[in-house]
Amino acid sequence: GRRPLVAGNWKMNGLRKSVSVVESVRARLTPDLTDRIDVLICPPSTLIASCVAAAYGSPIAIGGQNLHAKASGAFTGSISAEMLSDLGARYVIVGHSERRAYHHETDDGVHAKALAARRAGLCGIICVGETQEEREEGRTLDIVRAQLAIGVPKGATATDTVIAYEPVWAIGTGLTPTPADIAEVHASLREMLTSLIGPEAARVRILYGGSVKPGNARELMSVENVDGALVGGASLVAEDFLGIAQAY
Ligand code: 13P
Repeated sequence: GRRPLVAGNWKMNGLRKSVSVVESVRARLTPDLTDRIDVLICPPSTLIASCVAAAYGSPIAIGGQNLHAKASGAFTGSISAEMLSDLGARYVIVGHSERRAYHHETDDGVHAKALAARRAGLCGIICVGETQEEREEGRTLDIVRAQLAIGVPKGATATDTVIAYEPVWAIGTGLTPTPADIAEVHASLREMLTSLIGPEAARVRILYGGSVKPGNARELMSVENVDGALVGGASLVAEDFLGIAQAY
């Protein structure tokens, strides 16, 4: 089976003192849990080095939230996959809906960034998800399948790729799809992935994200084809993040 991944996305939150969240998670993760699941925290870029240090020698992986597709060059303010890897990051989130909405990221851009992540030996977490309007129009599956088809590079493997389904309307709202709705989307994504990369698709983890909390994690994580969570707000509080991880 697929090893679940519980990932935290801190977004643009966290000052130096927030590294203590990594320390608390580390102190309270039990081997019994980390034998079964992978745990990842994606802090803002400014905290990656100190979070890597805080997690050193523990099962907690640290990742970035975004990257530039080029390895280096005249791109003021940008950070490459090679730079993230050099800091000790092992994953990077690619194409989060906030990047798509506020920084005009396209599916082709997501594809280029996913390739860049692989080039640097990082695992790319490719995000897909429909807006409220797209769901109301009955276009959810068309939207997420197209995002996947364009975003996922040829030859993607379970080692270099994770998919995250995050309905835009469920992010930070306290709303979540029903387990049946999530099951439908994840099954469709798995099928699309199989047509893109063949049998390897069965090994690729597909996370659910959007208002995952300790109180709903068990229900959401038990849905067929849900292989973990991408957690925003609740990942900023060690106790809540651990509560979600303990759904496994
Ligand atoms: P929330 O968990 O705060 O809804 O955010 C989800 C998300 O966007 C994670 O990437």
